[in-house]
Amino acid sequence: MSIADNLSQVKREIADNCHRFDRPESAVTLLAVSKTKPLADLETAYQAGQRLFGENYVQEAVEKHQQLAHLPHIEWHFIGPIQSNKSRQIAETMDWVHTIDRDKIARRLSEQRPAEMAPLNVLVQVNISGESSKSGVLLEQLDDMVELVQSLPNLRLRGLMAIPAPQADEASQIAVYEPLQQAFLALQTDHPEIDTLSIGMSGDLAAAIASGSTMVRVGTAIFGARNYP
Ligand SMILES: *Cc1c(COP(=O)(O)O)cnc(C)c1O
Repeated sequence: MSIADNLSQVKREIADNCHRFDRPESAVTLLAVSKTKPLADLETAYQAGQRLFGENYVQEAVEKHQQLAHLPHIEWHFIGPIQSNKSRQIAETMDWVHTIDRDKIARRLSEQRPAEMAPLNVLVQVNISGESSKSGVLLEQLDDMVELVQSLPNLRLRGLMAIPAPQADEASQIAVYEPLQQAFLALQTDHPEIDTLSIGMSGDLAAAIASGSTMVRVGTAIFGARNYP
């Protein structure tokens, strides 16, 4: 199938799950994860109407950002781990960062965000399935991280992100998301401007939409399999 066909199918799957879980279709935005994929694939997706792209590797993200700078309304989301020596490149090019989980990185991104750019939209990454990943803050640490991010002038806190360990079935996927959804709702009560819960990948779209996702990050189902993660 073509990238355009894949995009239509993913959008249909998102819409179907919104109906199934009683949510408006407009509640869930599609982020196309284009890591490792050639520029031509991103251009094809753009021609088919896709505007939000997610990248994991700094060098690749910066190059694609530069090469596609002529496309109006394209939006770049950084969704990979951040080393402090790479934070400046991210601060200078990206529209969003989904992977804020360390004070030092949050501070650097705010300091390095150019004054003439809009504040960087950020999500705090939460570690909801402790064994499988080193990334993300624990839920117990979330309040401190939220407070820090909100004190930084060039960051705009938009919400939370998570990458859970793979689960065997939809019920288990939903169970793993449950504490995160509760934390997100609690955060929104205190901070009504927070609007983004970034959960859901090719393998768990339904569970993520059931759990309140507002942004799904889909790679394989749009662009096909990758040679490396
Ligand atoms: C690669 C990646 C995705 C997309 O995964 P697929 O299984 O290809 O849909 C989503 N989120 C993050 C953080 C990723 O690294």
